[in-house]
Amino acid sequence: MWTFCLRSLSREYGWRFAARVAAGRPLRTLRAFREADRLDVTGAGVDVGIRAAGAPAGCPPSIVGVGFCHKPIDPPCPSGRANHDCRCLETLAPHDAAGVPAPCRSCAIRDIGMRSLRAGSAFYVMTSARDILADVYVPAIESGRFPTGLFVLCRYSFKPFAAGLLASGMSARLLPLDQGDCRDYRTWLLADRGVKLERTTVAASGMTQAASVLGTLGPARAMRFERRGHVLYPATARPAA
Ligand code: SF4
Repeated sequence: MWTFCLRSLSREYGWRFAARVAAGRPLRTLRAFREADRLDVTGAGVDVGIRAAGAPAGCPPSIVGVGFCHKPIDPPCPSGRANHDCRCLETLAPHDAAGVPAPCRSCAIRDIGMRSLRAGSAFYVMTSARDILADVYVPAIESGRFPTGLFVLCRYSFKPFAAGLLASGMSARLLPLDQGDCRDYRTWLLADRGVKLERTTVAASGMTQAASVLGTLGPARAMRFERRGHVLYPATARPAA
């Protein structure tokens, strides 16, 4: 993890993190890095911080994040790839099979996003570390907006990601990808810049855990997502005209 962090310090994300997170809370940040470094990240799901591990059953996370790398390639995602967009969730297309665009039918973003909506959790398609800093860590620090989270990402970045969460006062469960994930700094850096040729998949155990935390999948007719910035927030559906 320390090599990852040192390499990142010379990049925009690194110095932004230092300025916006570490500078105001140096001791908490130091403790966060130490705690993250001690994490056992080999399991099917990794709890970070106290509240995630001790959260009462049935208490949904305040935010759920998944990588843009889940987006399908052939046929391609109608929203494009290296961005925060999901047209399917933002417009809540009809959820019978015929009404869902073909690329979206097997998309984990749709599956986990719909569960998040039903659970009342905000939903975020993650792209770069710089955006995660601005969209998740900084709001968590400045307003306590996201005390808890559920994130699906490559196991390679679990520890540095956990350090950011802890330094921001968050707790979370991290679920690993099982195919197509980044396993070294070079591929991680390319993905961070939006260059990711593989489509990643979530391990079956990860989907089971997501379902267990977020609940069942099904129509959420009384709910819709409202997009603010890069994050989708659950809102009450507008009445039909
Ligand atoms: S559900 Fe998946 S494929 Fe469909 S718009 Fe959203 S991200 Fe793209």
